[in-house]
This record gives sequence, structure tokens and C-alpha cells, in this order.
Amino acid sequence: MAQLPFIVAGGGIGGLSAALGLARAGIPCRVLERAKELGEIGAGIQIGPNAFHCFDYYGVGEEARSKAVYIDQLRLMDALSGDEITHIPLDEPFRKRFRNPYAVVHRADLHGVLLDACKANPLIELRTDHCVEGYDQDGSSVTVRLTGRDPIKGAALIGAEGLRSPIRQQMVKDGEPRVSGHTTYRSVIPTEQMPEDLRWNAATLWAGPKCHIVHYPLKGWKVFNLVVTYHRDVTEAVAGKPVSKEEVRQGFEHISPRAQSIIEHGNDWKLWVLCDRDPITEWIDGRVVLLGDAAHPMMQYFAQGACMAMEDGVCLSHMMEKFGGDVDKAFVAYRDQRVVRTARVQLGSRLIGDYIYHADGAKALVRNAAMKAKSAEDWYDQLSWLYGGTGLDA
Ligand SMILES: Cc1cc2nc3c(=O)[nH]c(=O)nc-3n(C[C@H](O)[C@H](O)[C@H](O)COP(=O)(O)OP(=O)(O)OC[C@H]3O[C@@H](n4cnc5c(N)ncnc54)[C@H](O)[C@@H]3O)c2cc1C
Repeated sequence: MAQLPFIVAGGGIGGLSAALGLARAGIPCRVLERAKELGEIGAGIQIGPNAFHCFDYYGVGEEARSKAVYIDQLRLMDALSGDEITHIPLDEPFRKRFRNPYAVVHRADLHGVLLDACKANPLIELRTDHCVEGYDQDGSSVTVRLTGRDPIKGAALIGAEGLRSPIRQQMVKDGEPRVSGHTTYRSVIPTEQMPEDLRWNAATLWAGPKCHIVHYPLKGWKVFNLVVTYHRDVTEAVAGKPVSKEEVRQGFEHISPRAQSIIEHGNDWKLWVLCDRDPITEWIDGRVVLLGDAAHPMMQYFAQGACMAMEDGVCLSHMMEKFGGDVDKAFVAYRDQRVVRTARVQLGSRLIGDYIYHADGAKALVRNAAMKAKSAEDWYDQLSWLYGGTGLDA
């Protein structure tokens, strides 16, 4: 009898990474994606050096590198005074230390690189318009239940369907995600529309009380990615809702005019209300395992959710190889290696949201003083636990 494939639920960055990794380990995979087409939203994403190790592992290093913009700095501005607080240089010493660069890339380009590699791989089958509802298992295989379709059988199941994963719900039963109350508005504008004196080759963060703004160039400097966030204490989750510029502007009257002006240059704003979940250790149910946002959804403040999903795929496939295809042992080793690292990013993202991104009053003064005092080497030491990872280590 032919080998049953592994089923991967979800064709986002996490699901495609898992499929590429498993195929590298010689395991056939079937990716089931709910949407009618595989793709990503039109916005940017930051990718740390840890993600570049993953690209190389998946055999897409060259293609991914060709799509990226290599920024010089992570720059932190005080949104109230308009002054720079500090910057982390991303030049040669950074690259040498972490054996890879830090970059920014358009999400569709990044997803496209992974998708092309999946399409070219005879061990990977991609199916769209397949909405996963749940699973049943018998100890040697898993049967995936789908909306309006016949069930599909696989050797194992990877739940990579993001924040609202039905597989996680069946496994963990932890209900709706935590609504952070943070509203994030995104816009991508032609570079000519960005004020000339703000066209920095940096991922820039303007941090202010209850709010922040992020911008960086994308697509070979053809466009700028704008992300504007305000902690409005909203209680309902929203994803990608078109909103007016007036709505985005609300609450930013207190920050410096230069920072405020960034909002004026954006158009076609879309709103997300950010959600995350508390870290958990229950990632496995027999031959079913969670990966990416389904396992560890986080606030975006370390800019690492997609990087962690890519690392997960590396680790999972590495463990499948290491344990000679023994699913039970590989899943446990994968979970044991990934839980602490991803939980640290989940919890740390909440903390830096509070203490760095949205600090006010004395908290902001402490932030500025502490961050100004750091040298580039201090920063590299402090971030080495994160950027020094490859997915193959803890
Ligand atoms: C504002 C913002 C900025 C961010 N910035 C960064 C950044 O700079 N760097 C970074 O690394 N990360 C960043 N992230 C996080 C990153 O976007 C996510 O962590 C990452 O996309 C997770 O990938 P995933 O594949 O696990 O989940 P998803 O991207 O959510 O993909 C899940 C896939 O599963 C599909 N699906 C859903 N339900 C089903 C179902 N029932 N059946 C089948 N398929 C289904 C979906 O259609 C989707 O294709 C940011 C997030 C936000 C919100």
C-alpha cells in the first residue's frame, strides 16, 4: 500500500513551511487550505536572521534573499518629542554575529517563494477550497473532517490554520483568542508619497503613549509599508476591514507633527484588532500536532510570528528525520524544543508592547534612558537568544 501523506491544515507561511520541511525529510504531504486561492495579504513583514536559516533549510534561500530589502537599522523614535531614542545597527557586525541579515519583505513575495517551492516539489500536493473542521484518529492514521467534502485520511495531521485553528479547538478547547484591544491600521504607499525626510532605510518605530507607528521600504524601494497602532481597548476582533483616514487619525493629536504626518500619507487603510493567546504546552493529541499561530499566536511586537512558524517547520521535519519517521517521538521532541522558545516570544511581545511600544510618563522616561545607554554589542547580546536561533536548536 502507498504511504499515506501527512496532512497539513492551512496554507499560510507556517503550513507551507511545514510541507517543505517534511518533503525534505522524504515525507509526502497534502496541504488543505480553506481559501479559494493560496496567498497572503498586501503588507510587509520583518524577517530576522533566524528566518534566513529556515529559508536555506527549505532550499529557497536565494529566491527569498532576492525579494528582501536589506535595512540598515532598527530605529526607535520618541513619538512625543520626535527625537531618536536609539537604533540597532544591522550592518556587518550584526550579520557576522547572527550569520545572516535582518530584512523586510512583502508578505505576498515571501509566501510566493514558499508556494513556488511547494508547487515544484512532487511530494507536496496543494488543495484549496478545503475547510478543515476537525479530526478522528485510530492510532495509526488520522481522518480529517472537511466542510461539505468527503473526509481525507493521512498518516498524521499538522494544525497550521492560524489564530482560530479548529484543530486547536478540538485538542485544547481554549475558546476564543484574547482580544488585546490594540487596533492596527495598515497601508502600503508608493515611495514618492512618503515624505522625503522619512525615507529611511530602516524599520522605524515611533513609540508613544498608547500608540505607535511603524514604517519601512518594500519591493526594491518601490513602496513603503505603514502600520499605525492605537490601544483603544476595543473588545471585538477584526481582520482587514477597510476604514477611513479619519478613523486612523483619532487619538494621535498628542504625538509630534512629524510622526502624525505619516498617517496623512497613507491611503486605503485597513483595520485589524490584534489578538493573541496565553502560551500552552498541549500541542499534541496522538498523531496530531500544532504549528505556527495555531500553536502560539502572539502580538507582533517582536516581529517574529512568521519567523517562529518557519522555525517550527524546520524543527518538526528535523525531528521526523532524527527519529526515523517515528511520529510519537518526533512530535514530543518538536514540542519540547519549541514550547519554551515560542512562549518566551509570546509573553515578551506583550511586555515590550507595554514597556517599549506604548510607554507613558515615567515608564517612557525609563525606556528612553535605558535604551539610550545600550551599545550595539549590548543589543546583540540582549537579542542573541532570539536572532541566534535556527529552528534546529532550542
Ligand atoms: C500587524 C501584524 C504584523 C506582523 N508582523 C510580523 C513581522 O514583521 N514578522 C513576523 O515574523 N511576523 C509578523 N506577524 C505575525 C505573522 O503574520 C503570523 O505569525 C504568521 O502569518 C502566522 O502564520 P501561520 O501560517 O501560522 O498562520 P496564518 O498566516 O494565519 O495562516 C493560516 C492559514 O490557514 C488557513 N485556514 C484557516 N482556517 C482554516 C481551516 N479551517 N481549514 C483550512 N485552512 C484554514 C488560512 O486561510 C491561512 O491561509 C505580524 C502579525 C500582525 C497581525
